[in-house]
Amino acid sequence: MGCARTLLAAEVGDVRLPCIMLAAGTHGNEPAASWALLNIVESGLLHPAFSYRMWPCINPSGYELETRSNAEGSDINRSFSGGGTTPEAKAIITSNRDRRFFASFDLHEDPEAAGFYCFEPARPDQPLLGDQVIKAIDEAGFPLQTLSAEFDLGYEQDVMPNARLEQGRVLLDLASELQYFQERGLPFTAYMLRRASRCGLTFEAPGTRSWDERISVQRVAIVRALSELAKVSSAQPPN
Ligand SMILES: [Zn+2]
Repeated sequence: MGCARTLLAAEVGDVRLPCIMLAAGTHGNEPAASWALLNIVESGLLHPAFSYRMWPCINPSGYELETRSNAEGSDINRSFSGGGTTPEAKAIITSNRDRRFFASFDLHEDPEAAGFYCFEPARPDQPLLGDQVIKAIDEAGFPLQTLSAEFDLGYEQDVMPNARLEQGRVLLDLASELQYFQERGLPFTAYMLRRASRCGLTFEAPGTRSWDERISVQRVAIVRALSELAKVSSAQPPN
């Protein structure tokens, strides 16, 4: 069976503005994430303070097959180590080479979640965004996921050091996360944060909710994150 393997990268906005990375569709069984990103762009929700580079469907073969992994059975979100260990990660890393981003957002869905949550790897020199994002989701009337040691977060919770579970957020220590995934294969956001972006979050929409709600929570999350970033962007020189 032939599968689509071409990755679409789209650029929007004045290149002199700080650039934001928006990614979606790393897991093929999380289809509303890609459609949420398209919806955000089409609805004119991208904040004018920034330019944007977007990868709306990082795993087109998995999207077609409705699988988490790509057609070769690899989880692309564990393949951003070094120069990339999947064709998709290789293409993105090569294309992003020498680019620096003001922030990076990766849109996912958790098929088992009943509420929104995000992963926020914190670095000591950057403000946290996740609390504002969670607040916006709550204010919009959407549920937040309750997270516990039993909840499957895609990593071994008892081995990941310095992670903190909150209502709607997994707060990670970036250095610990990079160390944890170094031998297991880096996720997209960790790869971005290692060198290419000063801050980065992964948004998880609740896969058990309706299609429209899964789109809406991503809209709310991105809009609030961008408006918070716009407040600080003028105060910081581009990197
Ligand atoms: Zn995912």
